[in-house]
Amino acid sequence: MVSEPEFQQAYYEIVSSVKDSTLFEKFPQYEKVLPVVSVPERIIQFRVTWENDKGEQEVAQGYRVQFNSAKGPYKGGLRFHPSVNLSILKFLGFEQIFKNALTGLDMGGGKGGLCVDLKGKSDNEIRRICYAFMRELSKHIGKDTDVPAGDIGVGGREIGYLFGAYRSYKNSWEGVLTGKGLNWGGSLIRPEATGYGLVYYTQAMIDYATNGKESFEGKRVTISGSGNVAQYAALKVIELGGVVVSLSDSQGCIVSETGITLEQINDIAAAKIHFKSLKEIVGEYATFGENKVKYIAGARPWTHVSDVDIALPCATQNEVSGDEAKSLVASGVKFVAEGANMGSTPEAISVFETARSTAATAGDAVWFGPPKAANLGGVAVSGLEMAQNSQKVTWTSERVDQELKKIMINCFNDCIQAAQEYATEKNTKILPSLVKGANIASFVMVADAMLDQGDVF
Ligand code: GLU
Repeated sequence: MVSEPEFQQAYYEIVSSVKDSTLFEKFPQYEKVLPVVSVPERIIQFRVTWENDKGEQEVAQGYRVQFNSAKGPYKGGLRFHPSVNLSILKFLGFEQIFKNALTGLDMGGGKGGLCVDLKGKSDNEIRRICYAFMRELSKHIGKDTDVPAGDIGVGGREIGYLFGAYRSYKNSWEGVLTGKGLNWGGSLIRPEATGYGLVYYTQAMIDYATNGKESFEGKRVTISGSGNVAQYAALKVIELGGVVVSLSDSQGCIVSETGITLEQINDIAAAKIHFKSLKEIVGEYATFGENKVKYIAGARPWTHVSDVDIALPCATQNEVSGDEAKSLVASGVKFVAEGANMGSTPEAISVFETARSTAATAGDAVWFGPPKAANLGGVAVSGLEMAQNSQKVTWTSERVDQELKKIMINCFNDCIQAAQEYATEKNTKILPSLVKGANIASFVMVADAMLDQGDVF
């Protein structure tokens, strides 16, 4: 019986990458790390209760998975969503360990959340939920122990309430959360960082595959999701001359042949804070009257787009099936990079990886950028926020953006290098597997820290 399907999926992805390489042959000591790294150092599970606007009590399960602290304080977001359970948080915390290692900054891995649906909740209710959640969580975190941030359902507003709660319960103003407001300890470019970083990573893929001949200019890009990651990825794609042909939410997707506009994305961003669906937004906002998009209820965009060059899944886990991956390949996609954690199912990854490893030339291949590399921009700038907080300084947006670009490119190069060194496939020279590269490079970084510190012996 598979009792934690999402966690086991994330675990087997790493295991199959490292086992299907020469790593353990060359360095047998790494094999002992696998069973140890797969067990969280600590899991905190707690009751959260609050009063709704009708004066009734509500209750939900809260969690923090403190997965691995060999490389730094536990670091990772909080997800407030009705799907939250231990399997999902263990998968996210596990991914986070390796993703954070690839940033090159000193951060361990963790993840937490609350099983709650914030849709339709008033601002007052959201504040009470955040304060109630932090009442318990504050006992287990700290700027050198565990530094949470946002994830699905937790944005700037929620981080504000969570930070205010921590400050009042602990009588301490410290960099205990990232994604803070700009006028109270936040970093410039943190809201943009995951989406921008995803586009910078994809740009590095395009550069490598085309020998610097191509860029986002003129490329047709299908994006899923319409939250923070999707919004900023779409804005950056437009800035770089690409055409964004789709976005989506949990109820449906919008498709535009001529390209979703900047103004439409700004309207979506404003409306999503109030939990409006894309269906409502398309019906209500004037920008969608002038520049029409097609709304498709109950669908993801992958089978509804044609002639696409790039796909950026930015919604949630397992949102690209094997058949949808085949449909994307058939519609011409050459680059896929994940803004969402584990956006592609194992079947979809296998479709993309086969389309790469069996291609005769880089031009014929499909290249897949896995999430632990492609979407690490968010947590990387969280790391930069922690650095600024500890020095009590604020960097300019240009500086943060430059650092973010550097981190994304270093990570891309680390993935290439590890794949070339350890992957066994014949055509690694054409386009190396970034899945294997990211998994092996990050595993080695984490394993070395655990071996050095006696976590594994
Ligand atoms: N939730 C984001 C992620 O999946 C960011 C975490 C953070 O900034 O700590 O990487």
